[in-house]
Amino acid sequence: MASETTTEARTAAQELTGAILGRRDARTDRGRRTSPQDHPRASAVGVCAREVYHQITDWQLRPQPDTTLLHRFQRGNEVESIVVRELLADGFYVHNYLDEQITFEIRENLPEELQSHRDSYDSFIICRGHMDGRITWGDDKPVFEVKSLNPNVWGRIESVRDFFSMGSFWVKYPRQMLLYLYQAAEPFGLFILDDCLGHWKILPVVFDDFLDECEDALRTCRKAAIAARTGAPPPYHDDPTVCLECWARDVGVCSPPLDFTPAKFIELHGASINDDIWTTELNKAERAAFNESDKRIKDTMKLYGPGMYVAGDWLIKCEQKRNGFFVTWKRIGGSGDGPSEETPPAES
Ligand code: SF4
Repeated sequence: MASETTTEARTAAQELTGAILGRRDARTDRGRRTSPQDHPRASAVGVCAREVYHQITDWQLRPQPDTTLLHRFQRGNEVESIVVRELLADGFYVHNYLDEQITFEIRENLPEELQSHRDSYDSFIICRGHMDGRITWGDDKPVFEVKSLNPNVWGRIESVRDFFSMGSFWVKYPRQMLLYLYQAAEPFGLFILDDCLGHWKILPVVFDDFLDECEDALRTCRKAAIAARTGAPPPYHDDPTVCLECWARDVGVCSPPLDFTPAKFIELHGASINDDIWTTELNKAERAAFNESDKRIKDTMKLYGPGMYVAGDWLIKCEQKRNGFFVTWKRIGGSGDGPSEETPPAES
């Protein structure tokens, strides 16, 4: 009788677990939204103007986040609400947040390329977005942007400059902030970074420290916005490693030449690195074998030093950073079959 009760309890617990997770996934999936994009979005201005152009012209082909990622986004929204609640509780006036997020757009005079496309307007929109909020502070109303980060990533970021050195995905964060500051004509803004465990880091962004970076972001928006109106895509990005990570290449709307020229990448002939990377990728689940080949890769690449390398099927990036020597790799021309194309940074 006792064991029967235990069996029933296990079954009931399993059913309840399945029901909780299933309903959560279904609810999250119901919240999935896709909408056409007419202009570059401040939150998605990466390093390639052509990619921003495809966000507009091929928005419906852009891969949708899976349910796990949607859960993560939801948690990010909740962290944002918590941060704002705490600011309000501590007596700060958080501008407009409770009514709505603050929408904005950046307009410029109609450029020559669009004169023949001109309708009744003299200006055109190069960027749209919405800010998380602004805090009244003396005569300023600095923009703030809340980002919830994986604790491992959170621990690695000490300044806004770190975002620029972490790869094309992370560059979107400071670019987004600089576009806000440019539009709002504010001298500074704040990133409030939460590690999802309640720890905060606040990174000030002083506009004058990033004028070149802001001009880069504006240039990207301008090129993409003009291209979306004329239908002529901007040139390919000149760094093929950026293209390896790009959804536009994955879905086939952009086919850059992926020219890994020797001037930029050092080809390692006869090195065993190619085999070691394959071994590492294939043994990710088996810790011992993984550690052995992973260590061999790091030891060898340390001898070569910082730089970009091609070894067989792999493109390898070695970087000397404040906190160590990092080796990352991607499979060249990977099509999604075979082992994963990207590894997290490995420190030795
Ligand atoms: S594949 Fe390369 S060139 Fe094409 S949109 Fe992406 S990053 Fe730009």
